[in-house]
Amino acid sequence: MSINVALDGPSGAGKSTIAKMAAARLGFVYVDTGAMYRTIAYYVIKEGIGVDDPEAVKAALSDIKIELKNEGTQQVFLNGDNVSDLIRTPEISMGASKVSAIPEVRAFLLGLQKDIAATNDIIMDGRDIGTVVLPDAQVKIFLTASAEERANRRFKELQEKGDPSTYEEVLADINQRDYNDTHRDIAPLKQADDAVLVDSSALTLEQTAEEIVKVITEKTAKKKERKPRELMPVRPITKAHKYSPVKLVFYTLLRVIVLGLYHIFYDIHFEGTQNVPKDGGNVFASNHRSYQDPVFIALHTRTPLSYMAKEELFQQNILFTGLIKFFGAFPVSRGKGDTAVIDTSIEKLEKGRNLVIFPEGTRSKDGKVGPGKTGVALIAAVAQTKIVPVGIIFEGKLKFRRKVTVRYGTPLMPADIGVSGTDPRSLKKLKLKIMEEITNLVEQNVN
Ligand code: C5P
Repeated sequence: MSINVALDGPSGAGKSTIAKMAAARLGFVYVDTGAMYRTIAYYVIKEGIGVDDPEAVKAALSDIKIELKNEGTQQVFLNGDNVSDLIRTPEISMGASKVSAIPEVRAFLLGLQKDIAATNDIIMDGRDIGTVVLPDAQVKIFLTASAEERANRRFKELQEKGDPSTYEEVLADINQRDYNDTHRDIAPLKQADDAVLVDSSALTLEQTAEEIVKVITEKTAKKKERKPRELMPVRPITKAHKYSPVKLVFYTLLRVIVLGLYHIFYDIHFEGTQNVPKDGGNVFASNHRSYQDPVFIALHTRTPLSYMAKEELFQQNILFTGLIKFFGAFPVSRGKGDTAVIDTSIEKLEKGRNLVIFPEGTRSKDGKVGPGKTGVALIAAVAQTKIVPVGIIFEGKLKFRRKVTVRYGTPLMPADIGVSGTDPRSLKKLKLKIMEEITNLVEQNVN
């Protein structure tokens, strides 16, 4: 894949000079998109068409063919003629600023710009390269300088060419073009969120070029290094293990009895039970309201559940410990980054058990869903298994005949949102998605 560097910034910030220098040092092709807009303005003015007449400019586009050729330096050809020098006058600068606000003109040049970037390592300069033309560029730089400093530089340049413009005129021109570029409706000049800002007001050309080369080298080197770091190898569960029919009958019987008891004890409602998978080996990710939560969730799952419980619970009397173990609890030591617990979780899933996880880690007293921890995403991503979001909703504390709603959401596979590995970025994405689903289920409760 070619490396794309997007260099944007206001008129006169030195983009083209700097981009040329940096491109030469890095062996990249320099693409000056301003020259393309200038060429259109040049054609329009030459043909006696008003740059302020969008309809006429649009109509002229079909007569324009622009080519960029690298002949030591970049040369611009208009319908076969080299116009590189002719497009560098103040009149054309202002004309380019005007025609560039016409959407059809931008669309006309966009394809050409994208094509060049697709096949070359390039530094492309302009106003909207990082935001519109190459939004996926590996490096984005926004090069700017104060309007006075930019006017100063351009004024000297024009003087050397024998241009009679005064400093005041050049400054007014720069301010006007800044205004045009930042206020147009389509692709206005603005710094992309992920662009590095370089202010050249107090830097020499050489220093600025050095700074830009440094940014590009660092960013592209990091990209090469940054093979996503997998936290654990993915080992999709096979769910080969099936529960013995005897055990399942026993489990179902128990479940139905407890379900009946819970209907007596609580005003309990279940929603979305059709979302509960018939087989095992799924992760149930739920908000955490009470110690009863694993039971609430289990009441509509057809295969037994396992769930993590804090270590301290296993240090109680033998009867209690035996009971929670029987119902699928296994210990997790909180706050210690317990990696063994991940392996245990995966083993449970492989054995065909469903796994209940409360990503918030602790119970929420007020019913609000707190931020989630990444463990849930890691387990689901390693196992590449279904995640069923669950919302448990009741007001205040659990007590006799309290209304409780248990809402099962649509199951989600990590691959559904493009998560196929266990690198931190994928895990974060998966965790946020899971928490969003849980929150939606909890917050639906306005009825
Ligand atoms: O960069 P340069 O000054 O040569 O650009 C000429 C004009 O073309 C700018 O004032 C700006 O209005 C327009 N332009 C643009 N988008 C780009 C490059 C230039 O609108 N990507």
